[in-house]
Amino acid sequence: MERVLRPLERASKQLLFDCKMCGQCVLSSTGMACPSNCAKLMRNGPCGGVRADGSCEVNAAMRCVWVEATGGLKRIGPPQSKTFLEPIDHRLWNSSSWLRVIDGTHSSPTPIRPLPAPAREIFGFEQACKSGRFVVTVEVSPPDSSDPAELIARALRFRDLVDAINITDGAGANCHMSSAAAAAILVANGFSPVAQFSCRDRNRIALQGDILGAAALGVRNILCLTGDDVSQGDHPDAKPVFDLDSISLLRITGRMRDAGTFASGRKLGVAPNLFIGATANPFVPPYRDRIANLEKKVDAGAQFIQTQFCFDVPMLADFMTEVRTRELHKRCAIIVGVGTLSSARSLRRMVQHVPGVHIPESVLLRIAGADNQKAEAKAVLVETMRAVGDIEGVAGVHLMGYRNDEVLAEAIAESGIRRRVSTRAA
Ligand code: SF4
Repeated sequence: MERVLRPLERASKQLLFDCKMCGQCVLSSTGMACPSNCAKLMRNGPCGGVRADGSCEVNAAMRCVWVEATGGLKRIGPPQSKTFLEPIDHRLWNSSSWLRVIDGTHSSPTPIRPLPAPAREIFGFEQACKSGRFVVTVEVSPPDSSDPAELIARALRFRDLVDAINITDGAGANCHMSSAAAAAILVANGFSPVAQFSCRDRNRIALQGDILGAAALGVRNILCLTGDDVSQGDHPDAKPVFDLDSISLLRITGRMRDAGTFASGRKLGVAPNLFIGATANPFVPPYRDRIANLEKKVDAGAQFIQTQFCFDVPMLADFMTEVRTRELHKRCAIIVGVGTLSSARSLRRMVQHVPGVHIPESVLLRIAGADNQKAEAKAVLVETMRAVGDIEGVAGVHLMGYRNDEVLAEAIAESGIRRRVSTRAA
């Protein structure tokens, strides 16, 4: 049957849907847009790198598959019940999905059902997020060195200024010390790190192993993200993995913590006690569907969300209105990304080279027109932090700015943001 059906299926579906013969067809759940054409093999919605015109972060000549999918789902008709698409079973590539439908082995989307979360002890950053206090986190990219001294020195600058320090995982697909190792070094030096885990470089086996290892070294907070494509970084010739997307990683990590099992179902000795987060980008297409994507991450177990840079407060305010309508701010801590660089030119370069960053032209012109661009950029940051803090439902801010630690630390102090109470509890 496979020998008969496969060529028929390939010929017809390639013509109609650019099918890649993954053997586990999900076209009816993706608005007839084949997700295997997505460079990151996203299965549960768009990545955060969609370009402003709706084209793909990785291949600008192609419209983002998930922009197509969300449009297709609307055209097909009534909204789908809330489901997850399971990670790809790589044994099925180049086999017939039709045959699976016929013999009943075709896997359907998994209905979203909140997992019972066993009682567990909570620590520093999680306690801060649940205390109602306005939280502040900062991003630090690990060093290009085996000497931890530089990392510790950078973290010391933010001691008593932040609730947690995010350690990126090959941000921008550039190589640095591993996130798990750098986070463990910070734990050993009395800091509260958030170890970031991206799906770009490791498959589900390595990711689970690294998360377990980080937990064993005292790391309590992790951030699940899909990650920028290799084409963005200093090893564009590397092989991208993307075995999972961030939503699948969230679910697998949640199961390790709450059910004490690996994705395979095999039991763990001691389950990792983790505070689990994810990212969101309200500033890129498909704008109206970004809220559904956020809700899916919360359904998948995200307890805190750190957004991409916010330079457009009115756009964030619109997004937060939707967040409050769905009461997502009561189910997870929404921490808004803010930050800056020291000139309009470097900010423009960031828009061109960092996927998913949106900066209104008015902001760029204001900084470009200033005598002291560095001071003006910091002033914009401080204003943005205060404005974001006034939006109901926002639990805190997350500061980012590549190697701009001094300005970020000054902005935290000058903004008075640490003295705020979060409006999340409202
Ligand atoms: S923009 Fe992202 S989600 Fe869309 S097709 Fe490209 S890689 Fe996939």
